[in-house]
Amino acid sequence: MEHQDQRIPKSLACSNCLRRKEQCICDKIEVLKNHTKVVVLQHPQEQLKQFNSAKLLTMSLAESALVVGLSWQNHRAVLGENEQPGDWGVLHLKAGNEGGKPLEIFRKGKEKVDAAPLKGIIILDGSWKQAKTLWWRNSWLLRLNRVSLNPAHPSLRNQVRADKLSTLEAAALALRLLGEPATLADRLLEQYQSLIIKPSGH
Ligand SMILES: [Zn+2]
Repeated sequence: MEHQDQRIPKSLACSNCLRRKEQCICDKIEVLKNHTKVVVLQHPQEQLKQFNSAKLLTMSLAESALVVGLSWQNHRAVLGENEQPGDWGVLHLKAGNEGGKPLEIFRKGKEKVDAAPLKGIIILDGSWKQAKTLWWRNSWLLRLNRVSLNPAHPSLRNQVRADKLSTLEAAALALRLLGEPATLADRLLEQYQSLIIKPSGH
């Protein structure tokens, strides 16, 4: 359940990784090479959560960015001046849809495409409600491809609903299904397990 995810007081947190200072992970992270870029749009209230995985995700991936906020004028404000919305996907987690394909891509949210080579994916980081807020505040997201993820495995965090993955887990699965080597996803999950879940005693 989400309410078990305690907030770390800012004064006790490492200013870089935002973990508790005694659990700082800055020197423990192995930076991994990825081809499909990952940009996380993080709801401001997620920043200092104990189980926040977005920070670890973006510190682990060489080609990634973490952007904290609620709304941005357009895709260029987030991705850069020269980026085209059609080259990017926004990750959308299917809830409770068993037996579907693990990953589907919908052009502009409608027409299904077989395999669009994507330059990168955007992931919204926050509770279900916060992610919904990010969706309606940023209507430009609808101009991107929608990458629909249908996870077959439950989260490593046992209190999380079976159909809901942490941001890092969703990213790892999406990257693998988009053609990144399985070793990349495996290393991401290992780091999540050893640096975030285990030190917190879960
Ligand atoms: Zn740190």
